Amino acid sequence: MLNAELIMWTPIAEQISQATGQPFRVRDRRPVGGGCINQATALSDGDRTYFVKVNTPVQVEMFAAEAIALEQLYATQTIRVPQPICWGCTDRHSFIAMEWLEFGRGDAAAWERMGEQLAALHRWRGAEQFGWERNNTIGSTPQINTWTETWPDFFAIERIGYQLRLAKRKGGQFPDTDRVIAVIRDRLADHQPQPSLLHGDLWSGNAACTVAGEPVIIDPATYWGDREADLAMTELFGGFPAAFYRGYNQAWPLDSGYPQRKALYNLYHVLNHFNLFGGGYGSQASRTLEQLLR
Ligand code: ADP
Repeated sequence: MLNAELIMWTPIAEQISQATGQPFRVRDRRPVGGGCINQATALSDGDRTYFVKVNTPVQVEMFAAEAIALEQLYATQTIRVPQPICWGCTDRHSFIAMEWLEFGRGDAAAWERMGEQLAALHRWRGAEQFGWERNNTIGSTPQINTWTETWPDFFAIERIGYQLRLAKRKGGQFPDTDRVIAVIRDRLADHQPQPSLLHGDLWSGNAACTVAGEPVIIDPATYWGDREADLAMTELFGGFPAAFYRGYNQAWPLDSGYPQRKALYNLYHVLNHFNLFGGGYGSQASRTLEQLLR
């Protein structure tokens, strides 16, 4: 490794040493692909390896929120997440360091366990309201988690209302935000789920299995919400293997109204994709909004 490169990683290695109580000196560094937002790296001293994501210093809050989410998910002991080690800033970067996991190809049995374990996470109780202890991000968009007593209010205002306002500022032609909020509140009025601790951004790139066949979820955008929101997102971009849904439904069958709510829940992510990437996501969001207001 070049000296200049070593200098960049030394302050992060020092913080890892402090957090683990064991001296850690970087001897090997390997870039890791597949992420959407951050520069990802495997840092190793030849013995131990850590997974580290870095970004500009202003993104430190994003890593703080990710570390807290991983800690909370880890503490439930329901489904595996990488154990966070530390997060913070150096002169030039913000970063998060976590346990390194070796991913492999999960077979059907592993995906069935993923479903069962996600259901166990969703059953876990810990909040009386919907929201979270701080705002976080979905992709790089702010995700507002103001504690709210009812799910219809939370989802209508903090999820769709917020993204719709952003989308309009980006030039999207969408119906009146207050009207959309009112219709969503009305549509969800009879639906009173328990607050479940959600992954929050559960597309296929954020679910994997270790080489030992253990299901893992990564890169969360956690909040307390309706479990159906996690399930809906698994179906948004192609879906998870059938074994996953079998496992989930055996552990905790989905409510009969889920298929009707799915498109509404995914409207949040479609609007977010419009806000991040523009393009055809705008017409996809318009179609769902039209059906909603019909
Ligand atoms: P981003 O925040 O940029 O979207 P991710 O958290 O999705 O980045 O991570 C990028 C990629 O790194 C993932 O697709 C996965 O392949 C790999 N990865 C994520 N977490 C770990 C980990 N704890 N150990 C090993 N590889 C990981």
